[in-house]
Amino acid sequence: MNRAGNRVRVLLLNAALDPLDYRVPEGMVVESGSIVMAPLGPRKVPGVVWDADSFDVEEIDAKKLRPLLEVRDAPPIAAPLRRLIEWTAQYYFAAPASVLRMVLSSGAAFSDNRPTIEYQMNGTIPDRMTPQREQAIEKLVDVQGTISKLATKAGVSVAVIRGLEKLGVFDRFEVSPFGAMVLPDPEHGPPQLSDDQNRVADVMKQAVAASDFKTFLLDGVTGSGKTEVYFEAVAEALRQDKQTLVLLPEIALTEPFLERFVSRFGTEPVTWHSSLKQSDRKRNWRALASGDAKVVVGARSALFLPYANLGLIIVDEAHEVSFKQEDGVRYHARDVAVMRSLNEKIPVVLASATPAIESRHQVEQGNYELLELPARFGGATMPEIEALDLTQDIPPRGNWLAPTLVNALEENLGKKEQSLLFLNRRGFAPLTLCRTCGHRIECPNCTAWMVEHRLTRRLACHHCGHVMPQPDKCPECSDEDSLVACGPGVERICDEVKLLFPEARTAIVTSDTIWSPAKAADFVAQMEAGAIDIVVGTQLVTKGYHFPNLTLVGVVDADIGLEGGDLRAAERSFQQIAQVAGRAGRAEKPGHVYVQTRMPNASVIQALVKGDRDGFYEAETEARKAAGAPPFARLAAIIVSSEDNSEAMETARLIGQTAPKVDGFNVFGPAPAPLAMLRGRHRHRLLVHTQRSVDLQQIMREWLENLEWPRAVRVGVDVDPYSFV
Ligand code: ADP
Ligand code: ZN
Repeated sequence: MNRAGNRVRVLLLNAALDPLDYRVPEGMVVESGSIVMAPLGPRKVPGVVWDADSFDVEEIDAKKLRPLLEVRDAPPIAAPLRRLIEWTAQYYFAAPASVLRMVLSSGAAFSDNRPTIEYQMNGTIPDRMTPQREQAIEKLVDVQGTISKLATKAGVSVAVIRGLEKLGVFDRFEVSPFGAMVLPDPEHGPPQLSDDQNRVADVMKQAVAASDFKTFLLDGVTGSGKTEVYFEAVAEALRQDKQTLVLLPEIALTEPFLERFVSRFGTEPVTWHSSLKQSDRKRNWRALASGDAKVVVGARSALFLPYANLGLIIVDEAHEVSFKQEDGVRYHARDVAVMRSLNEKIPVVLASATPAIESRHQVEQGNYELLELPARFGGATMPEIEALDLTQDIPPRGNWLAPTLVNALEENLGKKEQSLLFLNRRGFAPLTLCRTCGHRIECPNCTAWMVEHRLTRRLACHHCGHVMPQPDKCPECSDEDSLVACGPGVERICDEVKLLFPEARTAIVTSDTIWSPAKAADFVAQMEAGAIDIVVGTQLVTKGYHFPNLTLVGVVDADIGLEGGDLRAAERSFQQIAQVAGRAGRAEKPGHVYVQTRMPNASVIQALVKGDRDGFYEAETEARKAAGAPPFARLAAIIVSSEDNSEAMETARLIGQTAPKVDGFNVFGPAPAPLAMLRGRHRHRLLVHTQRSVDLQQIMREWLENLEWPRAVRVGVDVDPYSFV
């Protein structure tokens, strides 16, 4: 399929470069989508052969073309994915090479094929047992995997598995990295669906069989069986021999998902997330590109992988803001998932108990089909939600839990049921203040306070990661013992719980403690074993988990989410509290939720207490409409940053002054960003607001392409922004 003159256009894996033309040497066969190595100066750079005449680049003289060096032994990137790369680059103002990087997943596509070593127990029992060894042996019956996978499965450290390996507990297998995979079996363990569930599952199954583009909003209360139901669509894709991609918002959710998947399909799906080992990453990439992997579950980055024959995409917890990537290519995985499904002509399911207003709006517009699961499965009832007015039900001085909530915790402990306290703040205290001079300890690189982490005895910046030891005197006035912690974080709440209930077994669940699927698996195992009485956690515990014995939830501060007040603040608060409340009473035992607030009459709180989800959404949607906010209009932020503030300011001003005057296209700013300094860079923002009918990308591109600014200034565009800091 080599073209005239053997000239091909190659998109190189280098964001600074436009695509370049190369010559295909004698004897080499390439086609559009082939993964190749190309010479660039003295270097060898990977790239993908693109469609002829794609991209508007200057043609170089045929005589000057350099020959390609090699074609990789990997399936070519298919046309629908090439179109998705172009669309994503175009829509989000990114370099096509940056999007391509996610497709090729740095290195995975260019790997050698060395075998991996896997282990399985052979029945040998070590002479000396420890509780960890016992746990491992109990959990690893019939499990084969790498050392790290066995450790994850058993909920023990890698060292424990290595130790057992030395004692001859395992047999050793060499596994070809791309060897045959055990296929998920759609008939392995089908559930008995309720009538509601059946109705919804049938619609999705038909769409999978029809294999045409279609977007479903699967809207079902927490515990209604959304996962169970979309598994039926996955089963149908398996029967059609098509691949399924399941996107999860948080890698901590992977492990519980895997367990449910195994009981439904008899084997694990292939996973994709940032904490995969390089060797697993390569293997998984190959398996999904060849079509051997039938189901892939992953974080948002799994969206761009080169699936061989994708038949279905599921976006679980589709309302989650973590699907929006905030650095590199600023894309929203939910929205790109819909676009990919359109390109691939397949159905996509957005599942949520608290759908985004944007998604509901698409249903109203007739673009998405709504599938509803109105009730919890198996007769479980929705939890009772009660507001606790902190101005009436006052916590003792220096404490954060209201007496009513403390009583409820005590009662729940007595019943040997589990409780969850939710506060979306990591660390011990969000602010450290000097009592003598009033100094507040700030990050040297960011406009942000240093957050005390007492467990690690450090102060940390949650924006740039800067850490410092906890000072023993004020850095400003040098007064000793004058520093006080202000406000609570989860660690502080946990301390309060321990003082109140010394006998209670507690756990803190945040990204500091649960930073890998293995840690999450450990936590789940402990909860299921009843080894934890009270969990104190951040948003990490609000989603996905299903603990039958968890019956009490306390929201420590429902008002935090409303501070700062960007356009989605109320919606986000509502979603977060509804999700965390949804963890309570998921089985036979009813759940109770207390929401601590200083504003019990706020519409968010009232909607939660009355269970008036539809009323809340209607009011919010109306408010968005009245304010001309998305989804009734379009937004894009322009973020200008530099280490030199005056340079950043001047560039931002230049951008503002040259704003095009087009009907329905408005530019606000520039203004210093709320997070005026981040990682040592000064930041200024502009906000573009347009009517939906306006071609925002086209106008902005023409505007910004004609401007010049100093090299050290970075100008980033954030289309459909979720963060306004
Ligand atoms: P959601 O994703 O909507 O929160 P889940 O799919 O997690 O709901 O279901 C909640 C619980 O109910 C899970 O433990 C699930 O296994 C169980 N469940 C749901 N539907 C069924 C069913 N048809 N048969 C058996 N168990 C079910
Ligand atoms: Zn910082």
